[in-house]
Amino acid sequence: MSLTFFNACNSKQAYSNTATAENNSLDYVVDKFADTQVLRYKVPGFEDLSLQQKQLLFHLSEAALIGRDILYDQNCRYNLAIRRMLEQIFLDSKCDRNDRQFKELEIYLKRVWFANGIHHHYAEDKFTPGFSQDFLADRLQEIAGNTSGEASLTFLRKGQSLQQFIDEIFPVIFSPDVLAKRTVQSGDGDIILASANNYYAGGITQKEVEDFYEKQRQPDDLTPPSYGLNSRLVKEPDGRITEKTWKIGGLYSDAIEKIVEQLEKALPFAENQAQKAVIVKLIAFYRTGDLRTFDAYAILWLKDTASEIDFVNGFTETYGDPLGIKASWESTVNFINKEATKRTKIISDNAQWFEDHSPVDPRFKKTTVKGISAKVITVVMLGGDCYPSTPIGINLPNAEWIRRDHGSKSVTIENITEAYDQAALGNGFNDEFVRSDVEKELIEKYGFLADNLHTDLHECLGHGSGQILPGISPDTLKSYGATLEEARADLFGLYYIADPKLVELGVMPDSEAFKAEYYRFMMNGLITQLVRIEPGKDIEEAHMRNRQLIAKWVYEKGKTSNIPVVELIKSNQKTYVRINDYNALRNLFGKLLAEVQRIKSEGDYQAGKALVETYGVKVDQDIHAETLERYRKLNLSPYKGFVNPTMKLIRNDKGEAVDVTLDYSENYTQQMLRYSRDYSFLPTYNE
Ligand code: ZN
Repeated sequence: MSLTFFNACNSKQAYSNTATAENNSLDYVVDKFADTQVLRYKVPGFEDLSLQQKQLLFHLSEAALIGRDILYDQNCRYNLAIRRMLEQIFLDSKCDRNDRQFKELEIYLKRVWFANGIHHHYAEDKFTPGFSQDFLADRLQEIAGNTSGEASLTFLRKGQSLQQFIDEIFPVIFSPDVLAKRTVQSGDGDIILASANNYYAGGITQKEVEDFYEKQRQPDDLTPPSYGLNSRLVKEPDGRITEKTWKIGGLYSDAIEKIVEQLEKALPFAENQAQKAVIVKLIAFYRTGDLRTFDAYAILWLKDTASEIDFVNGFTETYGDPLGIKASWESTVNFINKEATKRTKIISDNAQWFEDHSPVDPRFKKTTVKGISAKVITVVMLGGDCYPSTPIGINLPNAEWIRRDHGSKSVTIENITEAYDQAALGNGFNDEFVRSDVEKELIEKYGFLADNLHTDLHECLGHGSGQILPGISPDTLKSYGATLEEARADLFGLYYIADPKLVELGVMPDSEAFKAEYYRFMMNGLITQLVRIEPGKDIEEAHMRNRQLIAKWVYEKGKTSNIPVVELIKSNQKTYVRINDYNALRNLFGKLLAEVQRIKSEGDYQAGKALVETYGVKVDQDIHAETLERYRKLNLSPYKGFVNPTMKLIRNDKGEAVDVTLDYSENYTQQMLRYSRDYSFLPTYNE
């Protein structure tokens, strides 16, 4: 479990140079709709790469874009049909583009693109269309008439009439009860049956899934593959349970073949033998679907720290499966930022010191920290589950035993954090929510550095730290596993960002800087992240649950001191966070870290559930309403994502590659329509 998303919605603002703030931020903003703002990121340093490196990036980038439709189908089995239908209407309808309903359809389509499906990418629930069933039915009749009739509608099933399509699809779009939530993360009901995602099919129950994978597990296998990671589990009509593996010749074969084609084209441009071996092994995995081959690939990948170009491509993160078994497809393509990597190298070089000095019970610590590497990277292409909503840090691989025996590789994506930062310049967010000038100045002075450093610590040391006791299965914490793992990593970072060791190592300027991160974290966890939650709803997403869990727990525990460690104070009817004792706050983070590590190491499901349900899920209704109102007046978007640059391979008249260029001019709609046109290889229904 290993992605970090941008914490606060807009918690950073101008550090200097406010005069140019407006122009600068406009340069980064591409589109805005519903609760979302789309930005572009820049790729500084691309021109300085060699032609060979650029060609490698080019083919890896093609491979990154090809997997897009896999994720749509993983998220829900109707996603491709609905997207293709909407795109065809959007392109072919002669309807007035300024018609209110048409505009609503456009917004709905933009949201589907952003979420890679019909459910919100963070809140998990289904979008409510602002257009009517009649309007959509009319548009479908219209485009069937525009073209050569129903046969040209590519989103119909074979032999399906338009009316049959409408009967099947309209409830999926319009009825609130049908496939209501992509991933149901908690509750005492059957979370597999309740989830709309496409990782399980045929009415299979949670119990059947758990039994199926329990049987595969061998308790004495110290290097177990990630069973079920790359397949859909299906209950056939005759009651048999089968795994449909995502591989060449299996499910999603049409897209995976094209990915492999690009990986093969990338091979001649590999920087060295180690990198070549990584790509070769990944191809072997896509061909066989064999999970031990996947582990072998992951080990080669984490050990390749010499290459300047790097990438992730495959079935990677399991946040979308309530049981944390099945992985969504994602890709990032990047190169190293050598200057900024000096910072993360210092941290990873001292990983053993941090492990030894953590407040965790010695039984749950790694005696020898192996293979920890960390770097700062510049991304050039994002795909699948990293697009358009993008992580700012990644730590892989996820298999516990590989981390234990071989280590892990962490990255902080600084051209993404920089784009967030630039786009938020002077947006008024901190003026509204930060208590006083004292904290505002702290954030202005140290915010960017402290935030990046927290991401470094979270990824490199946090996820890489600790060990689970022998015989404890990594899946024991079930749907609470992802939240608790993120809490563990965040707490590790919070505990150490205040450590004098960081000043001694020269990565923090002084003993005040950590306060910027503490203030920002508490403000976000107790108040401002609620701008992402609709009135009356609970928190669903693992990172958000984690942040409230931590903030609320330390807030509650700190109340018993003579002077509360953290307070919520009211001024002019507005609620603010006040931190009275930063050092006591650090101790509380340490205490909670020790407890969360214990829960993970011992696989204490009941304690983990209690922690998440008590502190991480329910929302304070008064603060929520007040926060939404304050935020609304700022006219900002709580969610952000990115368009990619357009990458072109330039050939001379002899057909030889002479350069690879990046262009930043494409807008959001253009990019999405281009991707749907050029990178769609899957059938509409993958059953
Ligand atoms: Zn994480």
